[in-house]
Amino acid sequence: MTRFSPSGRRIRAFLLLAGIAFIPPVFAQDFDIVISNGRVMDPESGLDAIRNVGIRGETVVAISKQALHGSTEVDATDFVVAPGFIDLHAHGQSARANEFQAMDGVTTALELEAGVPDVAMFLAMRDGDAVINFGASISHGALRTWSMPEHEAVLNALVAQIREAGEASNEIVDSFFDTIAAGQYEELDPERYPVLWKRLEKGLTDGALGIGMPHAYYPGVSTDETFHLFQFAAQQDVPIYTHVKGMGVTGVQEVVSYAVATGAPLHIVHINSSSLGSYQTNLDVILGAQERGADITTEAYPYTAASTGIQSALFDEGWQETMGISYGDIQWQDTGERLTEETFRKYREEGGIVIIHLMKPEWIRAILSDPRVMVASDGMPYAPGAHPRSAGTFSRFLGRYVRDQEVISLMGGLAKMTLMPAKRLEAVSPQMRRKGRIQIGSDADITVFSAEKIIDTADFEHDLTYSKGVQYVLVNGQFVVWDGELVEGARPGRAILGKKVVF
Ligand SMILES: [Zn+2]
Repeated sequence: MTRFSPSGRRIRAFLLLAGIAFIPPVFAQDFDIVISNGRVMDPESGLDAIRNVGIRGETVVAISKQALHGSTEVDATDFVVAPGFIDLHAHGQSARANEFQAMDGVTTALELEAGVPDVAMFLAMRDGDAVINFGASISHGALRTWSMPEHEAVLNALVAQIREAGEASNEIVDSFFDTIAAGQYEELDPERYPVLWKRLEKGLTDGALGIGMPHAYYPGVSTDETFHLFQFAAQQDVPIYTHVKGMGVTGVQEVVSYAVATGAPLHIVHINSSSLGSYQTNLDVILGAQERGADITTEAYPYTAASTGIQSALFDEGWQETMGISYGDIQWQDTGERLTEETFRKYREEGGIVIIHLMKPEWIRAILSDPRVMVASDGMPYAPGAHPRSAGTFSRFLGRYVRDQEVISLMGGLAKMTLMPAKRLEAVSPQMRRKGRIQIGSDADITVFSAEKIIDTADFEHDLTYSKGVQYVLVNGQFVVWDGELVEGARPGRAILGKKVVF
């Protein structure tokens, strides 16, 4: 108990007056953009109230009950005003792929699972042509082949050709990835590890957000190499993003034990397709390790089908048993047809993308209802018949799972696609501390959507289509979606860089 004294009262009165005196006057020209009367939802502070949001340049500078005025004003009555959605798993790294994601409310889409072989080249290629923010991990899969003496010279020559031409023709890209694939069944000689570490380090100083390790795609990798990679990541203090081996529990057990043993930060991608029916055990292992102090996180996409290359190692002998499916469960992306034994053989020879129907709706529902699992799309490079997750992941989750099936509260659902991915990355990329939130001082990456109307429209039968219900999307203070329509030609996306970047 504090005794109330006249002097205390005077001090309070003084503080009150001082406070009033120092509130800066607000004029119309103070704000470039004002988003008025929306339901502002911030998963970090818990704010969930009707507010007016003032933006100056690229930053949120006011969140107020009072009316604000700016050069551009948007009425968000009946809409949710949320932090822009952050996708940790997006293979579609082109302006066209970005457009579908922007219409789905995404403001940052990162290639972390597979990573890229040359980060500097990737960033240069996307710079100025990105609708939303972009970034990548450095690809362990590519660099281990690049560290094999028998493939090194070929890959160096191909990259020199790309640098000289200033762009990569389809033929060069194809031969580059064919050469990378040639190393997938080969073991890397431990004597070559130092070469691999050096290449990975170069990727990190070029701005990579960690290391992409989809080792399910390169069965030649030894447990020794994998474990040493975890030691390297721990020593560098950067995360490994992994597509674990197999489907079930052993792949998850392997990487969780290495992360715990080395202290390497770890993110396990698409726990749904990597677990199948064993999802509960895997979630308990991951989240149990997390509760005991290990830095391990995971994500899922809200669909019952996966998608990948038919020529990949995932379709090596025994795939039917591993996946629990047969030919008819596989769909050819280009035509939408379901496969037979004969067409499977033909297409595997040719190479191309397939959609794999292999999960049960109840698994997806259970995984998404766990508040600790993030939502990420695993969206594919743009193609007309691509997996619908490339266009509809976030609207589908908010519309079908949060609103219609009530698997989690709206705030809990938003956290999975804003605050949680931002926090996953902020130790490796301090830029992410200003994203995934809507607060004074946060980046003006904002998604305004109708909680009643938001829904995906892309499906497995047709070409990709835009989601519905996303009304406005701002990226770095610029509109990329205006009144439910894409803003043609808007390219405000910026690079998200790792902390080791050297300019
Ligand atoms: Zn994957």
